[in-house]
Amino acid sequence: MAKETIKSTLPENHSKKSQKAFEIYPRILTFIAEGKKLSVQDIEQLEETFGERVKKALELIGAKKVKKYLFTPSGVSRWVVEGHEHAYLTLEHSFCSCKDFLFSSIMKRVIPSCYHLLARELAELSGKFEEIIVADEQYTTLIEEWL
Ligand SMILES: [Zn+2]
Repeated sequence: MAKETIKSTLPENHSKKSQKAFEIYPRILTFIAEGKKLSVQDIEQLEETFGERVKKALELIGAKKVKKYLFTPSGVSRWVVEGHEHAYLTLEHSFCSCKDFLFSSIMKRVIPSCYHLLARELAELSGKFEEIIVADEQYTTLIEEWL
């Protein structure tokens, strides 16, 4: 493997912007837990640190691409965000099955969330998501589809 390739997969030094994003993210989660709404200022702050990801996330919400699958009778829920080519599974506000999340959040640690995960948080905050009820028997098939 070339040196350059190895270097590009190592965690980068956090820029100020990146640090801010890691500070803001837990706040969004607190808002969700407390049932609060984001203000225009909050969205602006998000845009400052998450850049284009906020616009893309809002587009996904507008296009009704955020789905909450509720499995029955177990009551287990799984949040899925439909991207351009694939539907991605988001888990526990801290994981998305897309490549951006793998590279930018896990490997490089420059941002706490990809735009799918951000879309999921913002959709949950605003209540703008679709709930789909499915039978527990479909669980494995669906999870495999999303991973
Ligand atoms: Zn993602």
